Amino acid sequence: MKMNKPKMASEKGVPSTSKVQILLAQLERMTGDSMLKDPEASRQITSKLLHLIQTQEKTGREVMSKGTSGMEVILSSLESTRDSQTTLNILCILSELLTLGKGRRVGAFVSKGGTGVLLRILISASREGHSSEELMLQLHSLLAKVGLKDRKLGVKARLSGAVNVTVNLIKKNLQNIKLLLPCLQVLRVYSVNMVNAISLGKSGAIELMFKILAPYSKKNTSLIKVTVDALAALLKSKTNARRAVEAGYVSTLLSLYMDWHRHDTWHRHTVIRKGLLCCLRNITNIRLGRRAFTNADGMRILYNSSSECLTVRTLDPLVNTSSLIMRKCFPKNRLPLPTIKSAFHHQLTHVLPSGPVAQLYSQPPGGRTNTQLCNEPLKKVDDVVDDSDDNEDMDADTEIDTENEEDEKDEKDPRSVNEDIEKDINKLHPQKSPSRPFEELKVYERFFVELTEDFQGHNIDCSTTAATTSSSSSARPSRPVIVPTAQALSPNHVTTQNSQVLCPPHKGRDPLSPPSTATAPLPPPALQLDTLRFSKELSKKEEMQQELLHALECVSVKAEAFLNADKHKGSSISTRKPSPSPLLLEGIAIRCLAGGGSDCGSEGTEDEGAVLEVPDTAQLLPLHDLDLYVEMVKGTHSVPQYTEVAYPDYFGHVAPTFREPLLERVYGVQRSKIFQDIERLIHPNEILDKLLYDLDVPSCPVIESDGESLKFNSQFESGNLRKAIQVRKYEYDLVLNSDINSNHHHQWFYFEVSGMRVATMYRFNIINCEKSNSQFNYGMQVLMYSVQEAIIGRPRWVRTGTDICYYKNHFARSSIATGGQKGKSYYTMSFSTSFRHKDDVCYFAYHYPYTYSSLKMHLFKLEAMRTPEIYLRQDVLCETLGGNSCPLLTITAMPESNSSDHICQFRNRPLIFLSARVHPGETNASWVMKGTLEFLMGASSQAASLREAYIFKIVPMLNPDGVVNGNDRCSLSGEDLNRQWQNPDAELHPTIYHTKSLLQYLAHTQRAPLVFCDYHGHSRKKNVFMYGCSVKETIWQTNISAASTELQEDLGYRALPKILSQIAPAFSMGSCSFVVERSKESTARVVVWREIGVQRSYTMESTVCGCDQGKYKGFQIGTRELEEMGAQFCVALLRLKRMTGVHNHQHLLDLESDLIGTQPKVVRCLSTQLQRVPGVKLSSCSTTYVMDEDEPSFLEAVDYSAESNDEDGEADSEAGASSRVMSGTPDSCAVRLSDSESSKEAWKTGCVANQ
Ligand SMILES: [Zn+2]
Repeated sequence: MKMNKPKMASEKGVPSTSKVQILLAQLERMTGDSMLKDPEASRQITSKLLHLIQTQEKTGREVMSKGTSGMEVILSSLESTRDSQTTLNILCILSELLTLGKGRRVGAFVSKGGTGVLLRILISASREGHSSEELMLQLHSLLAKVGLKDRKLGVKARLSGAVNVTVNLIKKNLQNIKLLLPCLQVLRVYSVNMVNAISLGKSGAIELMFKILAPYSKKNTSLIKVTVDALAALLKSKTNARRAVEAGYVSTLLSLYMDWHRHDTWHRHTVIRKGLLCCLRNITNIRLGRRAFTNADGMRILYNSSSECLTVRTLDPLVNTSSLIMRKCFPKNRLPLPTIKSAFHHQLTHVLPSGPVAQLYSQPPGGRTNTQLCNEPLKKVDDVVDDSDDNEDMDADTEIDTENEEDEKDEKDPRSVNEDIEKDINKLHPQKSPSRPFEELKVYERFFVELTEDFQGHNIDCSTTAATTSSSSSARPSRPVIVPTAQALSPNHVTTQNSQVLCPPHKGRDPLSPPSTATAPLPPPALQLDTLRFSKELSKKEEMQQELLHALECVSVKAEAFLNADKHKGSSISTRKPSPSPLLLEGIAIRCLAGGGSDCGSEGTEDEGAVLEVPDTAQLLPLHDLDLYVEMVKGTHSVPQYTEVAYPDYFGHVAPTFREPLLERVYGVQRSKIFQDIERLIHPNEILDKLLYDLDVPSCPVIESDGESLKFNSQFESGNLRKAIQVRKYEYDLVLNSDINSNHHHQWFYFEVSGMRVATMYRFNIINCEKSNSQFNYGMQVLMYSVQEAIIGRPRWVRTGTDICYYKNHFARSSIATGGQKGKSYYTMSFSTSFRHKDDVCYFAYHYPYTYSSLKMHLFKLEAMRTPEIYLRQDVLCETLGGNSCPLLTITAMPESNSSDHICQFRNRPLIFLSARVHPGETNASWVMKGTLEFLMGASSQAASLREAYIFKIVPMLNPDGVVNGNDRCSLSGEDLNRQWQNPDAELHPTIYHTKSLLQYLAHTQRAPLVFCDYHGHSRKKNVFMYGCSVKETIWQTNISAASTELQEDLGYRALPKILSQIAPAFSMGSCSFVVERSKESTARVVVWREIGVQRSYTMESTVCGCDQGKYKGFQIGTRELEEMGAQFCVALLRLKRMTGVHNHQHLLDLESDLIGTQPKVVRCLSTQLQRVPGVKLSSCSTTYVMDEDEPSFLEAVDYSAESNDEDGEADSEAGASSRVMSGTPDSCAVRLSDSESSKEAWKTGCVANQ
């Protein structure tokens, strides 16, 4: 009865499938007692089954097919049999079955408990001593297969005691290759588990592996391959690594590697070679291992072998792993400096005991007022090289990119990014509680003359007004502007004007005269800026042609006159007699053409689309004047007391007419640079080590050259090269100076090179960079300015350099300079370039330089752009620590007439408050500001409307001292000024103190600005974008939801960035963020929002690199694009105003929701959603929070960290990176975030629904 079906089948010729079923059924019946009673029958059945499976492939399928119990039957027979032949038969059946099926069958086997059965048989066989070799062979073969699928095999084996069985078996059968192979395969699986690895190490597994591996033999390569892999796995344990080092195996591994390297001529065994390198890589994760490696001459051995592999592309994995090991083992050096403290020190009159200067210089509070070079004996704590870089207790690949960029720099762990979000609701609510009595602020009234101006007695006739305004400006020098210092700010000293009555006009004052100074105490020294007088008055049109010619004259005639200290006196530059060559004429012709039309040459349609008449900045520098520049330099005070002028700043920069694409990363660049670095260690005799420039020798930093080397210099405004060392004939190591009164912040650079050979490739390495990654790895090039090119009509900075890369080097960074973090390295920024002209003087810079003297010159020239309709006032806000003045501009339109209506309109225009360049290294911010200023002063109807709509208050350079002295981030107080807004010190942070006071004054008089924006530059992201402040969007990033969902928030903060994303091609909404972070609570943006109550308070960040979206996608950013951005910012403000259709400030705020209604759908969707479910946040709208890292790490697998331990990452990291350089999109990051955001939102909405 039971056999019905099979019988019927057999009558029809017995299909094999039925045979299998019959056999399985028989086997099933035997399971249990009968199996033990009749071993002969079980042998027969299993033997037949094995034969079937071996001969007919479909039999296997039948057994394994879904819904059948074949595997269960086989496993239960295996468990119940005590007959060794039956056991073997079944193991063979399993072996046959599991060989096919791509692991799926193994999975089924594991899921049915096969692993446990195998381990039990293994244990019992070894315990009872009846283990035949064949049985062990079959068991291990099966376990090796199982190991591919069963992740817990290692744990199961340890718990069952099977690990030791295998080890003992290997020990006893070292010559038995056939048995050894599966045993080692299993051992390899066991070793991946760290606990197993340690216990295997104790039971002698490492020694065992070396017995198999050494001496070198090419026999049994598959055995060797497995052994090497098992060994590498064992050596991941630091205990085992130590054991191996102590047993002297490092040199064994090296000689084995070399044996294989030499004998594997046809590269058939690269897996073994790679495996040996992995062993070395794991051993050198411990300091002991690194030491043993270098002592065994490992650096030279791997360097030489890798060099021989470089030509064969398929050997890249070997080269890359070798490179990784060598970088780890490269002895850490200290920077070739006496101290990492800045080469210059500015003695502060006032030092906070807790401040950085007191700590760094052990300077007592108080002190003298003088400036001196710092060449005193150095404190030992200053730059201790930290030897404790051994990550014994953690994995070696935990190098975390902690640096958080930019305006608001902070060292933090990206994983704890949520920790940084402000969660204190009270702190998130703007708190307008006045922190200072108004009496104290009244002194600032003088900076707001326009708010009380009545223009009575003035005929607002254009011609006379023009005369008046310009006379007022030219008369200013004789009337020193008050610098409100802490002493001066005592309210008793100030006669306050009637400042609150805005309308009707206040009578009786000379409308256009600068603020009264009669009662001001001790005016500061008159500004150089104001005392300058220039007789030369060229009309703008004349200027265009004359300036270039003039530039040439100046090179020859004036150079010696003003550049007394110029070390290039006598060089061909200064003696050359320029002749108007065809090139020159052509240069002028091009510019004339450009001046007549839209943009230059081929890009005439550049500005189409946007309703914008950007002033044509490509004209021959209407704001540049060579003589004026020199005069400005004379009035600029630097700590090193520079006397030289850099040619690029003198000649000016005309943006090129061509676009400069992002540089594509070439395969293997980083590797070849690193090999050249390693070569220094291998062949130290070939290194020149010739000092060419050294600021630490203050008397003579420029070392006279013998003609064999380049000459370096950076003793000019914004320059910051500290040291230049020639290391090879055409290779130079450069060290940047720290920010003054600081011991770090190196990113910005600006220096001069001369004495070059033509058409020779030079390599430059800036060796003390600090950030852990750089846009130099993602398409950015350095900027170069050639004086010869300028002379022949191309005065411009151009992107240049090939083989650019940025990587961690072997110079140790002291824990003092890393905020206590140990084992940090510096980074090298390396680029190669050649020079076109003999006897040229060339300049290199991180980004387009923009000096403080340039600003002064531009402001001076802006005065000349004033028309009778424009109200322009330049005040000096205060003086800096270094004795430079901080300008404050007021720009608006003159009232239409002096009728009270017009005066009232004039005074009640909303204020826009702008600032820039608090971080000196962010020169792009100044170029954007230049675009803004030129647009505001321009003759376009848009500019006129804008002036009529708003009063602009602008502090174009918040940190003049930092800019002058070539700092990257700080002021002379050694502090980041954008971290001082909460509590600025009047003496240490005067520009911040007084700018904040202006805003406080406005808040007190109910005139808080409509928009506040601080311009910055971002070194790790592409595009231009904004950070703003939103309570809701901040709270959405946290989990404090319940209470906050009631919150209503005006969405106006999104309008301006949204408009910008529509009209400014470089601007990316996706990169914007409106989250308030704790680490940024003392930045301008957050303080102005929270304390002044400005809802639209922003940081605007411009890339130093380029764009990956919009019209400029794939191109590096230039000054044209930056200036355009500044102009578009103005246009956006105009749109903001037009959309509301109102002029009144308060009214504008009231109509905020109307404005939102006219916005594109993203914002509209937001508002409707809020209307529908009050208190529930948006989800599908554009992202609101973007992490600070730039290129997401998963997109850019560039191996710039020597500590990388990720095997998968290293093989083709560079190839991956090069193909992806152009495709990295921050938006993908944003998308990810908003996805998770929406799921979180969905969850929250669900909760709301449940309530
Ligand atoms: Zn910044």
